[in-house]
Amino acid sequence: MIKVRAQISSVFHLDKCIGCHTCSISCKNIWSDRPGAEYMWWNNVETKPGTGYPTKWEDQDKYKGGWKVNDAGKLVLRATGKARAFTNIFHQPAMPSMDDYYEPFTFKYEDLFNAPAGKDQPTARPVSMVTGKTMDIEAGPNWDDDLSGSPIYASNDPNLEALSESERQAIFEIERMVFFYVPRICNHCMNPACVAACPSGALHKRGEDGIVLVNQETCRGWRHCVPACPYKKTYYNWKSGKSEKCLLCFPRLETGQAPACFHSCVGRIRYIGVLLYDATKIEEMARVPEQELVEKQREMILNPFDPKVIEAAKESGISEALLESAQRSPIYKFVKEWQIALPLHPEFRTLPMLFYVPPLLPVIGKVENGNYQPNRTTEMFGSLKDARVPISYLAKLFAAGNTKLVEASLRRLMAVRLMRRQKTVGDSADTKISEILKEAQLTHEQAEALYKLSTVASFDERFVIPPSHREQAVEMLEEPELVKRETGFGLRQPPRRGP
Ligand code: SF4
Ligand code: SF4
Repeated sequence: MIKVRAQISSVFHLDKCIGCHTCSISCKNIWSDRPGAEYMWWNNVETKPGTGYPTKWEDQDKYKGGWKVNDAGKLVLRATGKARAFTNIFHQPAMPSMDDYYEPFTFKYEDLFNAPAGKDQPTARPVSMVTGKTMDIEAGPNWDDDLSGSPIYASNDPNLEALSESERQAIFEIERMVFFYVPRICNHCMNPACVAACPSGALHKRGEDGIVLVNQETCRGWRHCVPACPYKKTYYNWKSGKSEKCLLCFPRLETGQAPACFHSCVGRIRYIGVLLYDATKIEEMARVPEQELVEKQREMILNPFDPKVIEAAKESGISEALLESAQRSPIYKFVKEWQIALPLHPEFRTLPMLFYVPPLLPVIGKVENGNYQPNRTTEMFGSLKDARVPISYLAKLFAAGNTKLVEASLRRLMAVRLMRRQKTVGDSADTKISEILKEAQLTHEQAEALYKLSTVASFDERFVIPPSHREQAVEMLEEPELVKRETGFGLRQPPRRGP
Protein backbone atom coordinates (compact mmCIF):
# COMPACT_ATOMS: atom_id res chain seq x y z
CA MET A 1 0.00 0.00 0.00
CA ILE A 2 1.49 3.32 -0.98
CA LYS A 3 0.99 6.49 1.02
CA VAL A 4 1.07 9.39 -1.43
CA ARG A 5 2.42 12.75 -0.33
CA ALA A 6 2.55 15.91 -2.42
CA GLN A 7 5.59 18.16 -2.23
CA ILE A 8 6.28 21.54 -3.78
CA SER A 9 9.69 20.97 -5.36
CA SER A 10 12.13 22.94 -7.48
CA VAL A 11 14.69 22.70 -10.26
CA PHE A 12 17.60 25.11 -10.85
CA HIS A 13 19.02 24.95 -14.39
CA LEU A 14 22.70 25.77 -13.82
CA ASP A 15 23.59 26.46 -17.45
CA LYS A 16 21.42 29.56 -17.19
CA CYS A 17 22.68 31.03 -13.90
CA ILE A 18 24.72 34.20 -14.47
CA GLY A 19 25.72 34.64 -10.82
CA CYS A 20 24.02 38.02 -10.48
CA HIS A 21 22.78 37.44 -6.87
CA THR A 22 19.43 39.12 -7.60
CA CYS A 23 17.76 36.10 -5.98
CA SER A 24 19.76 36.56 -2.76
CA ILE A 25 18.93 40.25 -2.55
CA SER A 26 15.20 39.79 -3.14
CA CYS A 27 15.10 37.18 -0.37
CA LYS A 28 17.15 39.35 2.01
CA ASN A 29 14.91 42.38 1.45
CA ILE A 30 11.79 40.42 2.29
CA TRP A 31 12.82 38.00 5.02
CA SER A 32 16.18 38.50 6.70
CA ASP A 33 16.75 42.24 6.89
CA ARG A 34 16.22 42.32 10.66
CA PRO A 35 18.37 42.54 13.81
CA GLY A 36 19.92 39.14 14.51
CA ALA A 37 19.36 37.98 10.92
CA GLU A 38 21.92 40.20 9.16
CA TYR A 39 24.34 37.35 8.52
CA MET A 40 21.63 34.99 7.20
CA TRP A 41 21.36 34.35 3.48
CA TRP A 42 18.44 31.97 3.06
CA ASN A 43 19.28 32.17 -0.65
CA ASN A 44 22.96 32.43 -1.55
CA VAL A 45 24.91 31.91 -4.76
CA GLU A 46 28.27 30.13 -4.77
CA THR A 47 31.05 29.98 -7.31
CA LYS A 48 32.19 26.42 -8.02
CA PRO A 49 34.84 25.27 -7.53
CA GLY A 50 34.92 27.20 -4.26
CA THR A 51 34.24 26.88 -0.54
CA GLY A 52 30.79 28.49 -0.35
CA TYR A 53 28.89 29.91 2.61
CA PRO A 54 29.40 29.13 5.43
CA THR A 55 32.89 28.30 4.37
CA LYS A 56 33.45 24.60 3.55
CA TRP A 57 29.82 23.75 4.43
CA GLU A 58 30.14 20.54 2.41
CA ASP A 59 32.82 19.15 4.75
CA GLN A 60 30.82 16.90 7.07
CA ASP A 61 33.96 15.79 8.95
CA LYS A 62 33.93 19.35 10.22
CA TYR A 63 30.20 20.08 10.52
CA LYS A 64 28.72 16.60 11.07
CA GLY A 65 25.53 17.37 9.16
CA GLY A 66 22.96 15.01 7.67
CA TRP A 67 22.47 11.29 8.19
CA LYS A 68 24.73 8.26 8.09
CA VAL A 69 24.12 4.51 8.12
CA ASN A 70 25.61 3.09 11.32
CA ASP A 71 27.25 -0.35 11.78
CA ALA A 72 23.86 -1.87 12.60
CA GLY A 73 22.52 -0.62 9.23
CA LYS A 74 20.35 2.05 10.87
CA LEU A 75 19.94 5.58 9.62
CA VAL A 76 21.20 7.97 12.32
CA LEU A 77 21.97 11.67 12.50
CA ARG A 78 25.68 12.48 12.35
CA ALA A 79 25.56 15.43 14.74
CA THR A 80 23.15 14.28 17.35
CA GLY A 81 21.02 11.41 18.63
CA LYS A 82 18.99 10.80 21.78
CA ALA A 83 22.03 10.39 24.06
CA ARG A 84 24.11 13.11 22.41
CA ALA A 85 21.15 15.50 22.30
CA PHE A 86 21.13 15.36 26.08
CA THR A 87 24.88 15.67 26.67
CA ASN A 88 25.27 18.37 24.02
CA ILE A 89 22.14 20.28 24.89
CA PHE A 90 24.03 23.42 25.92
CA HIS A 91 26.90 22.99 23.51
CA GLN A 92 27.04 21.76 19.93
CA PRO A 93 30.67 21.03 19.06
CA ALA A 94 30.02 21.07 15.28
CA MET A 95 28.27 24.46 15.27
CA PRO A 96 29.56 26.90 12.64
CA SER A 97 30.97 30.05 14.23
CA MET A 98 30.74 33.63 13.04
CA ASP A 99 34.14 33.18 11.37
CA ASP A 100 32.65 30.41 9.23
CA TYR A 101 29.84 32.73 8.10
CA TYR A 102 31.18 36.30 8.33
CA GLU A 103 30.81 39.27 10.64
CA PRO A 104 27.91 41.26 9.18
CA PHE A 105 28.75 44.87 8.46
CA THR A 106 27.34 48.16 7.25
CA PHE A 107 29.07 51.46 6.52
CA LYS A 108 29.13 54.84 8.28
CA TYR A 109 27.38 56.52 5.40
CA GLU A 110 26.72 59.67 7.40
CA ASP A 111 30.47 60.41 7.29
CA LEU A 112 30.10 60.97 3.56
CA PHE A 113 27.66 63.79 4.19
CA ASN A 114 28.81 65.21 7.50
CA ALA A 115 32.59 65.27 7.03
CA PRO A 116 33.96 68.84 7.25
CA ALA A 117 35.36 70.39 4.08
CA GLY A 118 38.96 69.22 3.55
CA LYS A 119 41.49 68.11 1.01
CA ASP A 120 40.64 64.41 1.24
CA GLN A 121 37.66 62.58 -0.13
CA PRO A 122 35.54 61.35 2.83
CA THR A 123 35.03 57.60 3.09
CA ALA A 124 32.34 55.49 4.73
CA ARG A 125 34.13 53.16 7.15
CA PRO A 126 32.77 49.66 7.67
CA VAL A 127 31.00 49.08 10.99
CA SER A 128 30.19 45.70 12.55
CA MET A 129 26.44 45.07 12.79
CA VAL A 130 27.13 42.92 15.86
CA THR A 131 29.36 45.18 17.99
CA GLY A 132 28.64 48.56 16.35
CA LYS A 133 32.42 49.18 16.21
CA THR A 134 34.48 49.98 13.13
CA MET A 135 36.08 46.89 11.62
CA ASP A 136 38.17 45.58 8.75
CA ILE A 137 36.11 43.41 6.42
CA GLU A 138 37.75 40.01 6.02
CA ALA A 139 34.89 37.85 4.75
CA GLY A 140 31.42 38.01 3.26
CA PRO A 141 28.71 35.65 2.05
CA ASN A 142 30.06 35.78 -1.52
CA TRP A 143 33.67 36.53 -0.65
CA ASP A 144 35.02 34.03 -3.17
CA ASP A 145 32.57 35.11 -5.87
CA ASP A 146 34.22 34.41 -9.25
CA LEU A 147 37.07 33.12 -7.04
CA SER A 148 38.03 36.73 -6.19
CA GLY A 149 40.73 36.34 -8.79
CA SER A 150 42.58 33.75 -6.74
CA PRO A 151 42.79 29.96 -7.09
CA ILE A 152 43.24 29.70 -3.30
CA TYR A 153 39.47 29.69 -2.78
CA ALA A 154 38.97 27.03 -5.41
CA SER A 155 41.71 24.79 -4.02
CA ASN A 156 39.97 24.62 -0.62
CA ASP A 157 36.80 23.19 -2.16
CA PRO A 158 36.10 19.91 -0.26
CA ASN A 159 34.78 18.28 -3.46
CA LEU A 160 38.25 18.35 -5.02
CA GLU A 161 39.39 15.58 -2.67
CA ALA A 162 37.60 13.09 -4.90
CA LEU A 163 39.67 14.05 -7.96
CA SER A 164 42.87 12.58 -9.37
CA GLU A 165 45.92 14.79 -9.87
CA SER A 166 45.26 15.19 -13.61
CA GLU A 167 41.60 16.04 -12.97
CA ARG A 168 42.68 18.69 -10.46
CA GLN A 169 44.99 20.20 -13.03
CA ALA A 170 42.15 20.29 -15.55
CA ILE A 171 39.86 22.05 -13.12
CA PHE A 172 42.43 24.73 -12.37
CA GLU A 173 42.51 25.67 -16.03
CA ILE A 174 38.90 26.71 -15.57
CA GLU A 175 39.81 29.26 -12.97
CA ARG A 176 41.46 31.34 -15.70
CA MET A 177 38.42 31.22 -17.91
CA VAL A 178 35.15 29.69 -16.79
CA PHE A 179 33.55 28.39 -13.63
CA PHE A 180 29.92 27.98 -12.73
CA TYR A 181 27.45 29.10 -10.10
CA VAL A 182 25.37 27.10 -7.66
CA PRO A 183 22.49 29.08 -6.09
CA ARG A 184 21.28 27.45 -2.89
CA ILE A 185 18.16 27.61 -0.72
CA CYS A 186 16.73 25.11 1.79
CA ASN A 187 16.00 21.90 -0.11
CA HIS A 188 12.77 21.22 1.86
CA CYS A 189 14.06 17.67 2.11
CA MET A 190 11.93 14.54 2.12
CA ASN A 191 13.97 13.26 5.10
CA PRO A 192 14.99 16.52 6.80
CA ALA A 193 17.78 16.19 9.36
CA CYS A 194 16.86 19.56 10.86
CA VAL A 195 13.37 18.30 11.77
CA ALA A 196 14.72 15.06 13.26
CA ALA A 197 17.31 16.89 15.37
CA CYS A 198 14.97 19.45 16.98
CA PRO A 199 14.40 18.53 20.68
CA SER A 200 11.39 20.90 20.93
CA GLY A 201 9.51 19.67 17.87
CA ALA A 202 9.55 23.25 16.56
CA LEU A 203 10.72 22.23 13.10
CA HIS A 204 8.08 20.52 11.04
CA LYS A 205 7.39 19.47 7.46
CA ARG A 206 3.95 20.63 6.39
CA GLY A 207 1.82 17.66 5.49
CA GLU A 208 0.02 19.37 2.62
CA ASP A 209 3.01 20.56 0.58
CA GLY A 210 6.22 19.41 2.29
CA ILE A 211 7.52 22.90 3.15
CA VAL A 212 9.84 22.74 6.19
CA LEU A 213 9.17 25.48 8.76
CA VAL A 214 10.33 26.55 12.24
CA ASN A 215 7.52 27.41 14.63
CA GLN A 216 8.79 30.53 16.35
CA GLU A 217 6.59 29.97 19.39
CA THR A 218 7.86 26.49 20.20
CA CYS A 219 11.53 26.99 19.19
CA ARG A 220 13.61 27.11 22.36
CA GLY A 221 16.85 28.03 20.63
CA TRP A 222 18.64 24.70 21.32
CA ARG A 223 20.21 25.09 17.85
CA HIS A 224 20.44 21.36 17.16
CA CYS A 225 19.04 22.05 13.70
CA VAL A 226 22.04 24.18 12.71
CA PRO A 227 24.72 21.45 12.74
CA ALA A 228 22.17 18.78 11.73
CA CYS A 229 21.35 20.46 8.39
CA PRO A 230 24.19 19.41 6.08
CA TYR A 231 23.40 22.33 3.76
CA LYS A 232 23.62 24.84 6.62
CA LYS A 233 20.25 26.29 5.77
CA THR A 234 18.95 26.79 9.30
CA TYR A 235 20.29 29.84 11.09
CA TYR A 236 20.25 31.02 14.69
CA ASN A 237 18.94 34.53 15.26
CA TRP A 238 21.18 35.96 18.00
CA LYS A 239 18.63 38.68 18.81
CA SER A 240 15.42 36.63 19.12
CA GLY A 241 17.16 33.46 20.39
CA LYS A 242 15.26 31.32 17.85
CA SER A 243 16.24 29.45 14.70
CA GLU A 244 15.06 30.60 11.30
CA LYS A 245 15.15 29.28 7.77
CA CYS A 246 13.83 29.61 4.22
CA LEU A 247 10.06 29.16 4.21
CA LEU A 248 9.80 28.89 0.41
CA CYS A 249 7.83 32.16 0.59
CA PHE A 250 4.75 30.16 1.56
CA PRO A 251 2.60 33.28 1.98
CA ARG A 252 3.38 34.06 -1.68
CA LEU A 253 2.75 30.45 -2.81
CA GLU A 254 -0.60 30.48 -1.06
CA THR A 255 -1.66 33.44 -3.17
CA GLY A 256 -0.45 31.82 -6.39
CA GLN A 257 2.89 33.64 -6.64
CA ALA A 258 6.34 32.13 -7.04
CA PRO A 259 8.82 32.60 -4.16
CA ALA A 260 10.63 35.95 -4.41
CA CYS A 261 13.97 34.41 -5.44
CA PHE A 262 12.22 32.47 -8.23
CA HIS A 263 10.17 35.43 -9.36
CA SER A 264 13.17 37.77 -9.54
CA CYS A 265 15.63 35.32 -11.13
CA VAL A 266 17.29 37.11 -14.01
CA GLY A 267 18.54 33.97 -15.75
CA ARG A 268 15.10 32.28 -15.46
CA ILE A 269 16.91 29.24 -14.14
CA ARG A 270 14.22 28.36 -11.58
CA TYR A 271 11.22 26.07 -11.88
CA ILE A 272 8.66 25.09 -9.28
CA GLY A 273 5.94 22.44 -9.24
CA VAL A 274 4.43 19.53 -7.35
CA LEU A 275 5.93 16.05 -7.08
CA LEU A 276 4.06 13.07 -5.66
CA TYR A 277 6.05 10.51 -3.70
CA ASP A 278 5.54 7.36 -1.72
CA ALA A 279 6.09 8.26 1.94
CA THR A 280 6.29 4.62 3.09
CA LYS A 281 9.68 4.27 1.38
CA ILE A 282 11.55 7.20 2.92
CA GLU A 283 13.63 5.35 5.51
CA GLU A 284 14.34 2.37 3.26
CA MET A 285 15.48 4.57 0.36
CA ALA A 286 17.58 6.90 2.50
CA ARG A 287 19.60 3.88 3.70
CA VAL A 288 20.71 2.45 0.34
CA PRO A 289 24.40 2.55 -0.74
CA GLU A 290 25.51 6.05 -1.81
CA GLN A 291 25.78 5.27 -5.52
CA GLU A 292 22.12 4.17 -5.61
CA LEU A 293 20.64 7.12 -3.74
CA VAL A 294 19.66 9.22 -6.77
CA GLU A 295 17.98 6.36 -8.59
CA LYS A 296 16.12 5.24 -5.48
CA GLN A 297 14.90 8.78 -4.84
CA ARG A 298 13.69 8.90 -8.45
CA GLU A 299 11.88 5.60 -7.88
CA MET A 300 9.99 7.13 -4.96
CA ILE A 301 8.63 9.88 -7.20
CA LEU A 302 5.31 8.69 -8.55
CA ASN A 303 3.81 9.05 -12.01
CA PRO A 304 0.85 11.46 -11.59
CA PHE A 305 -0.82 10.01 -14.73
CA ASP A 306 -0.84 6.42 -13.44
CA PRO A 307 -4.46 5.47 -12.49
CA LYS A 308 -3.20 3.46 -9.49
CA VAL A 309 -1.24 6.47 -8.22
CA ILE A 310 -4.26 8.72 -8.77
CA GLU A 311 -6.47 6.36 -6.76
CA ALA A 312 -3.91 6.06 -3.94
CA ALA A 313 -3.40 9.85 -3.95
CA LYS A 314 -7.13 10.42 -3.51
CA GLU A 315 -7.19 7.90 -0.67
CA SER A 316 -4.30 9.79 0.93
CA GLY A 317 -6.40 12.98 0.84
CA ILE A 318 -4.75 14.68 -2.14
CA SER A 319 -7.14 17.02 -3.90
CA GLU A 320 -8.00 16.99 -7.63
CA ALA A 321 -6.42 20.42 -7.95
CA LEU A 322 -3.14 19.19 -6.50
CA LEU A 323 -3.19 16.13 -8.75
CA GLU A 324 -3.80 18.25 -11.80
CA SER A 325 -0.95 20.51 -10.75
CA ALA A 326 1.35 17.46 -10.35
CA GLN A 327 0.48 16.42 -13.90
CA ARG A 328 1.60 19.79 -15.25
CA SER A 329 4.69 19.97 -13.02
CA PRO A 330 7.92 20.98 -14.82
CA ILE A 331 9.82 19.32 -11.97
CA TYR A 332 8.34 15.93 -12.82
CA LYS A 333 9.61 16.34 -16.38
CA PHE A 334 13.14 17.40 -15.41
CA VAL A 335 13.60 14.87 -12.62
CA LYS A 336 11.66 11.79 -13.63
CA GLU A 337 10.71 11.93 -17.30
CA TRP A 338 13.91 13.35 -18.80
CA GLN A 339 16.13 12.43 -15.81
CA ILE A 340 18.43 15.39 -16.23
CA ALA A 341 17.98 17.14 -12.85
CA LEU A 342 19.92 15.75 -9.89
CA PRO A 343 19.90 16.47 -6.13
CA LEU A 344 22.80 18.33 -4.49
CA HIS A 345 24.93 16.01 -2.34
CA PRO A 346 22.51 13.10 -2.10
CA GLU A 347 25.06 11.33 0.13
CA PHE A 348 23.86 13.52 3.02
CA ARG A 349 20.76 11.27 2.87
CA THR A 350 18.17 13.97 3.53
CA LEU A 351 16.55 13.27 0.12
CA PRO A 352 16.61 16.92 -1.01
CA MET A 353 13.65 18.10 -3.08
CA LEU A 354 15.52 20.82 -4.95
CA PHE A 355 17.19 19.42 -8.06
CA TYR A 356 19.89 20.85 -10.33
CA VAL A 357 20.40 20.51 -14.06
CA PRO A 358 24.22 20.18 -14.14
CA PRO A 359 26.03 22.81 -16.21
CA LEU A 360 27.21 21.83 -19.68
CA LEU A 361 28.98 24.95 -20.82
CA PRO A 362 32.15 25.00 -18.69
CA VAL A 363 32.33 21.25 -19.10
CA ILE A 364 32.74 21.21 -22.86
CA GLY A 365 33.98 24.73 -23.67
CA LYS A 366 37.63 24.97 -24.80
CA VAL A 367 40.27 27.66 -25.02
CA GLU A 368 42.31 27.56 -28.21
CA ASN A 369 44.98 30.12 -29.06
CA GLY A 370 43.71 32.28 -26.23
CA ASN A 371 40.15 32.37 -27.55
CA TYR A 372 37.08 30.63 -26.22
CA GLN A 373 35.80 27.97 -28.57
CA PRO A 374 32.39 26.47 -27.93
CA ASN A 375 32.43 22.76 -28.57
CA ARG A 376 30.57 22.08 -31.79
CA THR A 377 31.49 18.49 -32.20
CA THR A 378 28.80 16.29 -33.59
CA GLU A 379 30.90 13.35 -32.60
CA MET A 380 28.79 11.26 -30.37
CA PHE A 381 29.45 12.98 -27.00
CA GLY A 382 33.20 12.57 -27.51
CA SER A 383 33.91 15.85 -25.72
CA LEU A 384 32.54 14.52 -22.43
CA LYS A 385 35.57 12.24 -22.20
CA ASP A 386 38.00 15.17 -21.90
CA ALA A 387 35.63 17.51 -20.10
CA ARG A 388 37.23 20.65 -18.64
CA VAL A 389 35.19 20.28 -15.46
CA PRO A 390 35.88 16.62 -14.72
CA ILE A 391 32.68 14.60 -14.66
CA SER A 392 33.86 13.17 -11.34
CA TYR A 393 33.68 16.68 -9.85
CA LEU A 394 30.09 17.15 -10.98
CA ALA A 395 29.30 13.62 -9.81
CA LYS A 396 30.66 14.48 -6.35
CA LEU A 397 28.28 17.44 -6.26
CA PHE A 398 25.15 15.94 -7.76
CA ALA A 399 25.26 12.15 -7.70
CA ALA A 400 27.27 10.90 -4.66
CA GLY A 401 30.10 10.05 -7.07
CA ASN A 402 28.00 8.15 -9.62
CA THR A 403 29.50 9.52 -12.87
CA LYS A 404 27.06 7.57 -15.07
CA LEU A 405 24.13 9.68 -13.89
CA VAL A 406 25.90 12.96 -14.64
CA GLU A 407 27.06 11.70 -18.03
CA ALA A 408 23.52 10.64 -18.94
CA SER A 409 22.21 14.07 -17.99
CA LEU A 410 24.91 15.95 -19.93
CA ARG A 411 24.44 13.69 -22.94
CA ARG A 412 20.76 14.63 -23.10
CA LEU A 413 21.58 18.32 -22.80
CA MET A 414 24.14 17.99 -25.62
CA ALA A 415 21.72 16.06 -27.79
CA VAL A 416 19.17 18.88 -27.49
CA ARG A 417 21.80 21.47 -28.47
CA LEU A 418 22.88 19.45 -31.48
CA MET A 419 19.28 18.96 -32.54
CA ARG A 420 18.63 22.71 -32.32
CA ARG A 421 21.86 23.48 -34.19
CA GLN A 422 20.76 21.23 -36.98
CA LYS A 423 17.39 23.05 -37.07
CA THR A 424 18.88 26.54 -37.12
CA VAL A 425 22.25 26.09 -38.87
CA GLY A 426 21.69 22.80 -40.66
CA ASP A 427 25.32 21.66 -40.73
CA SER A 428 24.61 18.05 -39.86
CA ALA A 429 22.39 15.30 -41.20
CA ASP A 430 18.94 14.56 -39.80
CA THR A 431 19.83 10.88 -39.57
CA LYS A 432 22.87 11.75 -37.47
CA ILE A 433 20.71 13.79 -35.07
CA SER A 434 18.25 10.91 -34.78
CA GLU A 435 21.17 8.66 -33.85
CA ILE A 436 22.39 11.15 -31.26
CA LEU A 437 18.94 11.47 -29.69
CA LYS A 438 18.60 7.71 -29.61
CA GLU A 439 21.98 7.36 -27.92
CA ALA A 440 20.89 9.97 -25.34
CA GLN A 441 17.59 8.08 -24.86
CA LEU A 442 15.42 11.02 -25.85
CA THR A 443 12.63 11.15 -28.42
CA HIS A 444 12.35 14.12 -30.80
CA GLU A 445 9.24 15.29 -28.92
CA GLN A 446 10.99 15.09 -25.56
CA ALA A 447 14.02 16.97 -26.90
CA GLU A 448 11.78 19.68 -28.32
CA ALA A 449 9.85 19.96 -25.01
CA LEU A 450 13.12 20.09 -23.06
CA TYR A 451 14.41 22.85 -25.35
CA LYS A 452 11.20 24.87 -24.92
CA LEU A 453 11.08 24.53 -21.14
CA SER A 454 14.77 25.53 -20.90
CA THR A 455 14.45 28.58 -23.14
CA VAL A 456 11.16 30.19 -24.12
CA ALA A 457 8.87 28.86 -21.39
CA SER A 458 6.46 31.39 -19.90
CA PHE A 459 6.01 32.24 -16.23
CA ASP A 460 3.06 29.87 -15.99
CA GLU A 461 5.04 27.00 -17.50
CA ARG A 462 8.04 27.52 -15.21
CA PHE A 463 6.00 28.08 -12.07
CA VAL A 464 3.14 25.61 -11.75
CA ILE A 465 1.83 26.51 -8.32
CA PRO A 466 -1.07 24.49 -6.95
CA PRO A 467 -4.10 26.61 -6.15
CA SER A 468 -4.28 25.24 -2.61
CA HIS A 469 -4.72 27.29 0.51
CA ARG A 470 -5.78 30.48 -1.18
CA GLU A 471 -8.82 30.70 1.07
CA GLN A 472 -6.63 30.26 4.12
CA ALA A 473 -4.21 32.79 2.68
CA VAL A 474 -6.98 35.36 2.52
CA GLU A 475 -7.80 34.54 6.12
CA MET A 476 -4.14 35.02 6.95
CA LEU A 477 -4.11 38.43 5.36
CA GLU A 478 -7.06 39.32 7.50
CA GLU A 479 -5.27 37.80 10.47
CA PRO A 480 -1.67 39.07 10.35
CA GLU A 481 -1.16 37.54 13.78
CA LEU A 482 -1.46 34.08 12.19
CA VAL A 483 1.43 34.85 9.82
CA LYS A 484 3.45 36.19 12.69
CA ARG A 485 2.85 33.07 14.75
CA GLU A 486 3.94 30.74 11.92
CA THR A 487 6.94 32.75 10.77
CA GLY A 488 7.99 34.90 13.67
CA PHE A 489 7.62 38.08 11.64
CA GLY A 490 4.82 39.88 9.90
CA LEU A 491 4.16 40.46 6.25
CA ARG A 492 5.64 43.76 5.15
CA GLN A 493 2.95 44.22 2.54
CA PRO A 494 -0.01 42.14 1.44
CA PRO A 495 0.99 39.86 -1.44
CA ARG A 496 -0.55 40.71 -4.81
CA ARG A 497 -2.63 38.12 -6.59
CA GLY A 498 -1.35 36.61 -9.82
CA PRO A 499 2.24 36.43 -11.05
FE1 SF4 B 1 16.22 20.97 6.81
FE2 SF4 B 1 16.30 22.52 4.61
FE3 SF4 B 1 18.56 21.60 5.73
FE4 SF4 B 1 16.93 19.92 4.40
S1 SF4 B 1 18.09 21.67 3.55
S2 SF4 B 1 17.92 19.52 6.38
S3 SF4 B 1 14.91 20.77 5.01
S4 SF4 B 1 17.10 23.06 6.64
FE1 SF4 C 1 21.49 32.86 -10.82
FE2 SF4 C 1 18.95 33.66 -11.07
FE3 SF4 C 1 20.21 34.04 -8.75
FE4 SF4 C 1 20.93 35.52 -10.91
S1 SF4 C 1 18.93 35.58 -9.85
S2 SF4 C 1 22.30 34.44 -9.44
S3 SF4 C 1 20.61 34.02 -12.54
S4 SF4 C 1 19.72 32.05 -9.65
